[in-house]
Amino acid sequence: MRVLVTGGAGFIGSHLCERLLDGGHDVICLDNFFTGSKDNIIHLMDNHRFELVRHDIVEPILLEVDRIYNLACPASPVHYQYNPVKTVKTSVMGTINMLGLAKRVKARILQASTSEVYGDPQVHPQSESYWGNVNPIGIRSCYDEGKRVAETLMMDYHRQNGVDIRIIRIFNTYGPRMAENDGRVVSNFILQALRNEDITVYGNGSQTRSFCYVSDLVEGMIRMMECEDFIGPVNLGNPVENTILEFAEKIITITKSRSKIVFNPLPQDDPKQRRPIIDLAGEKLGWNPQVALNDGLLATADYFKKRINQV
Ligand code: NAD
Ligand code: UDP
Repeated sequence: MRVLVTGGAGFIGSHLCERLLDGGHDVICLDNFFTGSKDNIIHLMDNHRFELVRHDIVEPILLEVDRIYNLACPASPVHYQYNPVKTVKTSVMGTINMLGLAKRVKARILQASTSEVYGDPQVHPQSESYWGNVNPIGIRSCYDEGKRVAETLMMDYHRQNGVDIRIIRIFNTYGPRMAENDGRVVSNFILQALRNEDITVYGNGSQTRSFCYVSDLVEGMIRMMECEDFIGPVNLGNPVENTILEFAEKIITITKSRSKIVFNPLPQDDPKQRRPIIDLAGEKLGWNPQVALNDGLLATADYFKKRINQV
């Protein structure tokens, strides 16, 4: 099949491109390089089944493809808050463009949605039936509401135009090729630990997150895309939940760091708790994350160690 991956030069997108090429597909990676980088896909450039298109999904594009994975969108709070209007345009106008393309060429399209559609959840853990608790006017809203509208657009193109859609709600995912400067907790803590700098826990560290290793996520994405009788939305994430303080301690231990933990102010609207219920993914896709947190963190720390040594 010919597969389009928007945001293919980003963290998750680059792993997905790799897996699709390994599966024998032709892959078109489309990216505007806002948060992605050529470094992430340089090893794929020699493959004759891989093509790279520098393009912004806010502008329409015509390509002949069978599948579209729509991942283009900055994902870390630091990046999506840098130009919030552009973040909304990417999720809304970008998704309309990709749905228009899917409709025209009769491609199946999968939207990378997010656990952020649940906002600061009042129901815990979160299942797909929960409608969420999102502040529409806060500093996270450009991302959260953008992704919510993108889900709405997917469903309306499906109902109105019969577009073949899939929606996944991705929970915090980590692994090699996360951007060093993206301010996310995994990259921040690992880099701070490797440099023996203070580990910056925001708030008192009692907020929770559940971290999924990128290879597990990519497996779930492909299973969902190729699932014939289920459009979603489906949660994809690892249900092992940690407080951010526990997470900081774990990273200090794993990296054998001399770092100390310091407490900084909690950003506005930071969700207090997050853990996916993944029964639906288990039932419909036979999917379950396989990589234990310690193993995934060791692999990620190795990656960052190499990056630091290159500089
Ligand atoms: P990332 O920032 O590494 O990747 C996003 C990619 O999209 C980058 O390569 C960026 O350059 C590209 N991009 C951004 N705006 C674009 C535009 N207008 N046109 C073309 N390309 C554009 O982030 P990621 O962690 O790989 O996330 C990928 C997708 O998964 C995103 O849609 C994100 O919302 C979603 N997601 C990620 C997580 C996570 O924990 N990593 C969680 C939930 C959802
Ligand atoms: N966080 C932290 N220190 C950091 C970066 C993040 O304590 O240096 C916290 C952040 O406040 C949040 C959690 O870690 O509670 C996850 O943050 P991240 O930005 O990785 O993802 P998200 O909030 O989107 O889940």
